[in-house]
Amino acid sequence: MPQFCEVALPVPLNQLFTYSIPDSLSLKPGMRVIVPFGSRQLVGVVVRCGDMSAAIEITAIKPIQEVLDEEPALSGEMLRLGQWIADYYVVPQGEALSALLPPRSPVRRSTRVVLTTTGQHALQGNLQAEEREFLQRLAKRRGIRRESLRAVWPLAEKLRKRGWTTYEHTVKASAARPFKSGPWENTSFKPSGPHELTPQQQKAFHSIRQQMETHQFGVFLLHGVTGSGKTEVYLRAIDLALKRNQSALMLVPEINLTPAMAALFASRFGERVAILHSSLSDTEREAQWRRVREGFSDVVIGTRSAVFAPLNRLALVIVDEEHDASYKQEEAPRYHGRDVAIVRARDAGATVVLGSATPAMESRYNAERGKYHLLEIEQRIRERPLAETAVVDMRVEFAETGRQSFLSRKLEAEIARRLEQREQSLILLNRRGYSAFVLCRSCGQAIQCKNCSIALTHHRRLARLLCHYCGYARPVPRVCPQCASEHIYFMGEGSERIEDALHRLFPQARIGRLDRDTARGQRQAEAILAAFQNHELDILVGTQMIAKGHDIHRVTLVGVITADIGLARPDFRSAERTFQLLTQVSGRAGRGEFLGEVVIQTYYPDHYAIRAAAAQDYDLFYQQELRFRQLMRYPPFTVLANVLVRSPSAETALRLAGRLGRHLETQQKLGIKLLGPAAAAILRLKKDYRYQFLLKASRRNLLREVLLSCREFAQRERFPAASLVIDVDPQTLL
Ligand code: ADP
Ligand code: ZN
Ligand code: ZN
Repeated sequence: MPQFCEVALPVPLNQLFTYSIPDSLSLKPGMRVIVPFGSRQLVGVVVRCGDMSAAIEITAIKPIQEVLDEEPALSGEMLRLGQWIADYYVVPQGEALSALLPPRSPVRRSTRVVLTTTGQHALQGNLQAEEREFLQRLAKRRGIRRESLRAVWPLAEKLRKRGWTTYEHTVKASAARPFKSGPWENTSFKPSGPHELTPQQQKAFHSIRQQMETHQFGVFLLHGVTGSGKTEVYLRAIDLALKRNQSALMLVPEINLTPAMAALFASRFGERVAILHSSLSDTEREAQWRRVREGFSDVVIGTRSAVFAPLNRLALVIVDEEHDASYKQEEAPRYHGRDVAIVRARDAGATVVLGSATPAMESRYNAERGKYHLLEIEQRIRERPLAETAVVDMRVEFAETGRQSFLSRKLEAEIARRLEQREQSLILLNRRGYSAFVLCRSCGQAIQCKNCSIALTHHRRLARLLCHYCGYARPVPRVCPQCASEHIYFMGEGSERIEDALHRLFPQARIGRLDRDTARGQRQAEAILAAFQNHELDILVGTQMIAKGHDIHRVTLVGVITADIGLARPDFRSAERTFQLLTQVSGRAGRGEFLGEVVIQTYYPDHYAIRAAAAQDYDLFYQQELRFRQLMRYPPFTVLANVLVRSPSAETALRLAGRLGRHLETQQKLGIKLLGPAAAAILRLKKDYRYQFLLKASRRNLLREVLLSCREFAQRERFPAASLVIDVDPQTLL
């Protein structure tokens, strides 16, 4: 009886594919295989094996060509997790599994040109000199790699067409590389501790330990103010897991930006820790992955995709800064790292700790409803007070001074005082570049990206206008590209311009800048942070990158240039994001022995996000925001999906949206609210025109049914493969 298996392939089709297993191959679920697919060969993952001959038409079935793993690349646990992702996020299983696989392709492919039997015969007969020479070269060796034949390509092709040579495709498993430790080991970050736990830390740790002792799944929300020592609680819990010969996983938003955290973990757990950060090469990632799988590392700390690290005997999963938007993957499969972490822990019977000073609305609501256990730390370490906050109303500032300036008198004076006292300041402006946009006063147009309906940002040092969405760059024009007028103006400020302005105001100060322009890679970010940590800089200007978990004791002033930037975004989370950012950046001040101070400049001092952040009052924000969410039927009161239709042709995008819209109307039911089609907030992005539908549902099952029917409709109606994007629990609606 022939044996068959079902294989998940990375194609946008919602199905598994059946192949037969040749006798010579031994196969288990979770192994990667090469299979024929149309005219191509694809690498897929075996999901099920067995005798399925009753259910299928045997004649049409092709055999597996090659098995790429000796041991399954994905365990049964991981295959189940992949299935969950496919179901929950409504993505084909092959796409879901591709996110779980180890980073580097398991194979090296090569194509060699080899002599055929006809070719060997031809060598005996009459030949031109160059033909003979070529065939002899092939005969001497086991063929020649196709790439190395570029110089004699026409000849090689001629002989191949005669049937004298042919291609031989080989696929080899690529060898594992030895482990190389990370760059964090060479930095100047001196890890502190271990510390004796404070009573509040002790209380939190005690609850976590009790849960771990049950070996049952349970989720804690550790809501601790900035500087309350959450990390030390994590470290204790991890230690406990290791002592019992179990393993632990910790997710962090951007480990590049918190080299101190990486150094701390390396110092506490040494070789046992694997650090998976986004600037590792695929080869380095693969090496870490193997160390974890083979049990050399039993603590993993890493960003979003580390949630798939192949740890065994998982006892503890920590998600630090659980509210952070970077946990959502913004390409297929569009999963949320925190939520996948919880599902993985549930399957493993592990304990979860979600930590934050500003928990996501959904998480705090889950705690309120008893789904999570709430642990609170209301005090900073050594009872250090939170920073004092002053809010400066920039409308009043303008009225009183009569000049439009980036810096209020208050913030300028406070910076000057810090310079005198040899203390440090952090200045936040959450926008890159020099000028936000370039406006023509004659035709009234802002200069736009050629791929996106977005105004370009002026980067002065690069002497370029850049698109922050697709990366398009162009020189700075002297005249308007639309109407050739000379009256073009550079409007709105970015971090680069603030840095310049500060240099002019405080020529003696040592000023650095941290944003995606100055810190393109891991090392640059680290160097800037290290310089600031070592007090080689007095002032650090930057975007939200400066707000992340840094624990620098000489920072006594945090200034926020324009607190309102994020509030204007067409997104129901804009207030929440603004509150989180302001609270987090405020939390960077006063972590040492001196009191911290925060100055927030705003045009909307009465906005509740700004008022609550200034008061560092999470509950005030939470209660107010919860009322807004309830009134507008947004999460956590509903579940949301964004269904987007896109095409490089405006007309096609509109037409597909129309068809999908008519289909969605037939799917209307109680408990589902459909908004759209509407032009997406960014109508054109990376050359695609985009229309969207927002679906709000009272229950997740209802939402899933509608989304599945959308996907089936698009497949049945032969929508182009990439034209439909389904985003479940979207984090941004742009
Ligand atoms: P959070 O992540 O809650 O903002 P951190 O974990 O960064 O806070 O801790 C803040 C500071 O307090 C760090 O410098 C840390 O080394 C220190 N710290 C943590 N726990 C203790 C403790 N029990 N005793 C003394 N210092 C501590
Ligand atoms: Zn113009
Ligand atoms: Zn663009």
